[in-house]
Amino acid sequence: LVSRKWRVRPTVLDLGDGVRIGEGSLTLAAGPCSIESEKQMELIMQHLLDNNVRIMRGGVFKPRSSPYAFRGLGMEGLKDFHRMARERGIKIVTEVMQVSQVEEMHDYVDVFQVGARNTQNFNLLDALGGVDKPVMIKRGISGTIEELLSSAEYVFSGGNEKLILCERGIRTFETASRNTLDLNAVPILKEKTHLPVIVDPSHGIGIREYVPTMALAGVMAGADGIIYEAHETPEQAASDGAQTLNFQESARLIRNLRKVYALR
Ligand code: PEP
Ligand code: MN
Repeated sequence: LVSRKWRVRPTVLDLGDGVRIGEGSLTLAAGPCSIESEKQMELIMQHLLDNNVRIMRGGVFKPRSSPYAFRGLGMEGLKDFHRMARERGIKIVTEVMQVSQVEEMHDYVDVFQVGARNTQNFNLLDALGGVDKPVMIKRGISGTIEELLSSAEYVFSGGNEKLILCERGIRTFETASRNTLDLNAVPILKEKTHLPVIVDPSHGIGIREYVPTMALAGVMAGADGIIYEAHETPEQAASDGAQTLNFQESARLIRNLRKVYALR
């Protein structure tokens, strides 16, 4: 069902208030790895509005490699995130980690994010197949393109056709970067499916200095959008600071992404 053989026309998702994802426009989503405070959200939302970006990312349930690391503000944080975003006309994308959270989070998200560690959590995918909100599925840490498409098929066949695919880098033998951003996946996915394809260069390379380059490369490879981590003081971020852009870097990237998209 997610194949171009089944549907030729590219899928375009409408998040409301004029925010669309898919062919015909460049989608930009930015924000911190983790939602940390109201003050932080206020600063980031203002940065996004100043740069005409309408989607904010930010996790409240964080899948951390260490159990001692910051694991997010949970539902309380999500409610604040949602309220502040609504007041400003911003849409939010945030990670859902387990089936029980789907219902709990439902009214407070615009796009459910399935993280790389949950791409093959088939019960979670089944549950998301039954909701009427868009779902962005990240590629598994060691997942193939085919496996990503199978995960999407779970949600789609469950009745939810509002899907976005996200290439976020895979684990390879290379240690010079956090992950290996597989830009090959972009044209392959665009050819194989009718779904929007978004690139996450932050997790893809994991090194702040190189994030803009890979974001621009993602757009030239044919991505429908870019999702990246930005924070008012990346050095102090609760998670993923080393791959997070400050506002100046983020603003420059947004300008360049729009220029490059226009060249396509
Ligand atoms: C994130 O978006 O902060 C995140 C945890 O991503 P991933 O699932 O791709 O590691
Ligand atoms: Mn992160």
